[in-house]
Amino acid sequence: MSAPTFPSVDALLEDLGITEPHELDLRFIAQHCGATIVYKPLEGCAARIAGNEERAIITVDNTSQIERQRFSAGHELGHWTFDRGKVSLFSCEDNLFIQEWSGSNPETRANRYASDLLMPHFMFRPRAVTFRQINFDTVRKLANIFTTSLTATAIRLVEHGPFPSMLVCNNVKEMEWVVFGSGTRGLWPQIPGPDTYAYDILKGRKEEASGDILATSWFEHPVAERYSVHEHSIRAYKGLVLSLLWWQNETMLSNLDDYEEERDARRSDSRRR
Ligand SMILES: [Zn+2]
Repeated sequence: MSAPTFPSVDALLEDLGITEPHELDLRFIAQHCGATIVYKPLEGCAARIAGNEERAIITVDNTSQIERQRFSAGHELGHWTFDRGKVSLFSCEDNLFIQEWSGSNPETRANRYASDLLMPHFMFRPRAVTFRQINFDTVRKLANIFTTSLTATAIRLVEHGPFPSMLVCNNVKEMEWVVFGSGTRGLWPQIPGPDTYAYDILKGRKEEASGDILATSWFEHPVAERYSVHEHSIRAYKGLVLSLLWWQNETMLSNLDDYEEERDARRSDSRRR
């Protein structure tokens, strides 16, 4: 099941007659929503919004990369859409944009809104399908089309892409976060060991590596035995390592489905006894 898309975004784009990625001009879209975007250097945060019930001013730090500026602007526009009137000022840090992805709070909602706005599902999915592979080569092509960061694009590809995949973010000590694609929720990744491609990058020996790998290298789960996944890992911002795992052979995931059904049946059986 893919993550929900807020209907408001698609309706908004339809209102504005926007159908192509190059038409996603955030200043123009924000203006239509009653918000003005100002770009200028900011200290201590990536973007902020100040507003009342009627109008808002969104300020975006223009010293960061254009992809980050766009995401920041979309994120603040998300606050304006959902949190208007509740808080008069939001000040948002860069790392919130990536860390706050699961859960349900104003930051998560704002991130989801930004993602829906910058990579609308109806534009993203057909393009993602044509590249036929879930790896960072595809992520780079899509990021180029939508002017989005690699991380935001990879998350979108996992959640809305055509094939089952997972995105795992590790620092040198532990896992930071994980994004599950369709059919992968029953699997929890372990810290990447020496037989993973992520390991060499975490150790600082490489910047990027990819290939097929035993699923047990990533997942300590009975269904992982005998199967492989494709891993593409890269060094991302702040020394974090992003690993994109792609199930080219989906048999392991259908076995996972069966495994969970049987387990649930056993549980309800034992409860009845
Ligand atoms: Zn925010």
